[in-house]
Amino acid sequence: ADTMRQQARVPVPQQQRRAIDEGAPPLISYVLPVYNEVAGIKRFHEELTAATATRAEFDYEFVYVNDGSSDGSLGVLKDVAKNDPRVRVMDFARNFGHQIAITAGLDHASGDAVIVMDTDLQDPPRVSLDLIDAWLDGAEIVSARRRTRRDTPFKRATAHTYYRVLRRCAEVDIPVDTGDFRLLDRRAAEELRGFRERSRFIRGMVASMGFEQREVLFDRDERVAGETKYPMRKMLRLAADGVTSFSTVPLKLITRIGFITLVLAMLGIVYAVALRLFFPAITVSGWTMLMVAMLFLGGLQMLSLGVIGSYVGRIYHEVQQRPLYIVRNVISHDED
Ligand code: UDP
Ligand code: MG
Repeated sequence: ADTMRQQARVPVPQQQRRAIDEGAPPLISYVLPVYNEVAGIKRFHEELTAATATRAEFDYEFVYVNDGSSDGSLGVLKDVAKNDPRVRVMDFARNFGHQIAITAGLDHASGDAVIVMDTDLQDPPRVSLDLIDAWLDGAEIVSARRRTRRDTPFKRATAHTYYRVLRRCAEVDIPVDTGDFRLLDRRAAEELRGFRERSRFIRGMVASMGFEQREVLFDRDERVAGETKYPMRKMLRLAADGVTSFSTVPLKLITRIGFITLVLAMLGIVYAVALRLFFPAITVSGWTMLMVAMLFLGGLQMLSLGVIGSYVGRIYHEVQQRPLYIVRNVISHDED
């Protein structure tokens, strides 16, 4: 069990990696999270294999992650695996959520490029070929960006607003209107495995890595079968994870409010004391003391919260344990 845990934490070891220069065709891995998709998963795999069959110059690997489905999806996946040796199925012991399922798949994908996509056919398999083309063209991370999407007006409106708000407050440049449908070059996938934070917002982590990133536009289809596995509750949690993982704006807001409160409190104190000194007749007895004490304490408390907040922010960054830096290549003098 220990070695398994170890394996999940570290990048895929050297000997497991494939080298294109060994003469083997490049391997494309697909990471495919599945949660209660029994009605559509077979058709998904058919469409995916039909799409990839048109590009026979690559080898493929399909890593399905069954995220604790309760509807017989696992049975269908086992069938799919029986008929297609390129399929691997990771079966979670319970539902851990979409972002964790993707993480597990990435940990176990060994391709020269790794493609993450939904399994409800909202991310059309043929679009993944466009991602591959952009990769062949030199991109290291290719995000599929929704030109249009066929979801409920409510989901479209909230998603539209959310991505733009997030973009404004996030510390990294998170592209708007992209989900987790993207291709990662092997190098980028390896680096992403180094991000082990628990509240995961993968699209943000990918954006923060750097590398040559590109976008491919596509029209997002309707779900073929079943209904969304992202109810309001899960959507809100993901949205909150996005903000808190990539922005300390809420914390900074407290600090700012602290300063403003303190300045206002000082003005209030000056006003109360001046009133007491110059117009003693109109001040109620005891009022000055009360005002001074209350404003002083209030201002001090808000400011202290801000100070604590800035430490909490730093602690938060520390516990996320993100890589300090990401090296694409080390260039030395004897290899051109
Ligand atoms: N999914 C998952 N675990 C979950 C929820 C969803 O693995 O807890 C998978 C699901 O099977 C699908 C993808 O994540 O392949 C996206 O989910 P969904 O289509 O329900 O989200 P939406 O497209 O409605 O945002
Ligand atoms: Mg979907």
